[in-house]
Amino acid sequence: MHAKTIAEIAKDLRNKEYSSEEITQHYLDRIKRLDPTYNSYVTTTEELALEQARAADQRLAQGDNNPLCGVPIAHKDIFCTNGVRTSCGSKMLDNFVPPYDATIVENYKHAGAVTLGKVNMDEFAMGSSNETSYYGPVKNPWNTNCVPGGSSGGSAAAVAAQLAPAATASDTGGSIRQPASLCGLTGLKPTYGRVSRWGMIAFASSLDQAGPLTRTAEDAAIMLNTMASYDAKDSTSIDKEVPDYTATLNDDIAGMTVGIPKEYFGEGLNAETGARVEAAIEEYKKLGCNIKEISLPHTHLAVPAYYVIAPAECSANLSRFDGVRYGYRCETPADLNDLYKRSRGEAFGDEVKRRILVGTYALSAGYYDAYYRKAQQVRRLIKQDFVDAFNEVDIIMGPTATSPAFEFGSKGADPIAMYLEDIYTISTNLAGLPGLSIPCGLVDNKPVGLQMIGNYFAEGKLLNAAHKFQQSTDHHQATAPNLD
Ligand code: GLN
Repeated sequence: MHAKTIAEIAKDLRNKEYSSEEITQHYLDRIKRLDPTYNSYVTTTEELALEQARAADQRLAQGDNNPLCGVPIAHKDIFCTNGVRTSCGSKMLDNFVPPYDATIVENYKHAGAVTLGKVNMDEFAMGSSNETSYYGPVKNPWNTNCVPGGSSGGSAAAVAAQLAPAATASDTGGSIRQPASLCGLTGLKPTYGRVSRWGMIAFASSLDQAGPLTRTAEDAAIMLNTMASYDAKDSTSIDKEVPDYTATLNDDIAGMTVGIPKEYFGEGLNAETGARVEAAIEEYKKLGCNIKEISLPHTHLAVPAYYVIAPAECSANLSRFDGVRYGYRCETPADLNDLYKRSRGEAFGDEVKRRILVGTYALSAGYYDAYYRKAQQVRRLIKQDFVDAFNEVDIIMGPTATSPAFEFGSKGADPIAMYLEDIYTISTNLAGLPGLSIPCGLVDNKPVGLQMIGNYFAEGKLLNAAHKFQQSTDHHQATAPNLD
């Protein structure tokens, strides 16, 4: 039961192979038995899940045709869930129980999906390895000595260990695509504004975007159909019709022009990883695509620009955690300043503090023009690179990450090495474009991903190209060894 995709579960539920309650119970049992190894869940919501499953079974009996009805999923612990602790991977929010649902959580409830629980993540979504969570690191099901990627490592490990058929995630600089690459999954970051950010705890508001982590492109299309919506409560949500992303999965891709940025194949890319990505591009040639070398000349500036803009926005967003209104409060504060200082000092981890310091510095008087404004100008150049590229090509392809999953502790001491993990994914967020990662082979028995970047609102085209690849290859069917 647990190896199935959403599309398969939807069919089985209608054929009465099993009920939603049965499959939900099956997943809850697996989580209890196996998750101590992976640490992918922070909270399981057993009672809520079974209650939702029983309600879904009733809807199914009445002929409900939403493919998510009765399907259990997990939510990244960055999305507020009414009555369920939402920690964002931080001691700061260890005691935070939101009184409302994030819009996307509400969308999934309406669709009849079942919430298995909340999954682990890097603290406040800052990281590429899931080593910064207050609840401890998440292990990669392919090799438990290695990281699952971050910050949506819990989402990715839960799906890769078959502890959920799919999970929600968020991507500020690569946090959906990089864990998808390291755990052998399909991960989609939609166009900025396509999915509501309301109720998603903010890290860097101009970059954050929610998306799904699934086994297949077809499942990602099903997940996006429900996740995407216009939301008046998010001022950056875009009022644009949500197409049926499953309707175009089988469109012919022959004649599509695929751009290969030369900057994505230079120094720093692990040779074996590069070879798998090139083999995947060859497959697209066989599918009738035209391959064209392109240049995104400002790529080398993406990481430095991101590490000014993201910390700047994080320093502003995280100022709300002051020990006064909600979240952690220190014991016996001497006065208001002491309350602020010790609450924040005791509850934020090192990486979060580092970013708040960098961001506050970059925004301070006298430095704003030198750093923040400059970074925004660079961001504009990066966006222009893509605008120019999309005049010539339909889709851009390259590696998602520089290498397969790395060992715990191997980059932790060097923030710069860790920051370079997202070298191929960050530009997409700076430009607001959609990006997707699909598995394209193994290196040292660990998965690596092919990244595709599309023009604004071209999620349908990305999913179409990914689905076609998955119809003619079986990389997405590879599962972690020794899975129970
Ligand atoms: N790894 C990047 C960072 O640490 C991106 C994180 C993310 O996408 N949430 O900021």
